[in-house]
Amino acid sequence: MITLPSFVGRYRKPANDIDDTLYMRVDFSPAPMSMNELAKTNCVDCRWATLPLNEWYMVQDSVWKAAGMEPDGGCLCIGCLEERLGRMLTPDDFMDCKLNDLNKSDASSRLLKRLTGKAT
Ligand SMILES: [Zn+2]
Repeated sequence: MITLPSFVGRYRKPANDIDDTLYMRVDFSPAPMSMNELAKTNCVDCRWATLPLNEWYMVQDSVWKAAGMEPDGGCLCIGCLEERLGRMLTPDDFMDCKLNDLNKSDASSRLLKRLTGKAT
């Protein structure tokens, strides 16, 4: 997707300015995800959309491998990852990375429970 630059409406060129530079504001915000890209975030087992579900996390490579997942093999929701592992996730299963930041408030309640190790 190409985002066309939008002009700065408030910029007023000084009257004595002979510079004919075209002043523009370019929008560098990330392009919205296409439906195709969004579909790649679906859980490969149950097809739930993990992104709106707020189940974005990273587990240790060994955990991902134990679930039979390739490094870039797609996404799994918490429920399907646990079903594959045959056990509940514990805080040690998660990588120490920003994605697993406990302070992010938008994680799903079950993801938060697994990250903290608290059942309730
Ligand atoms: Zn799932």
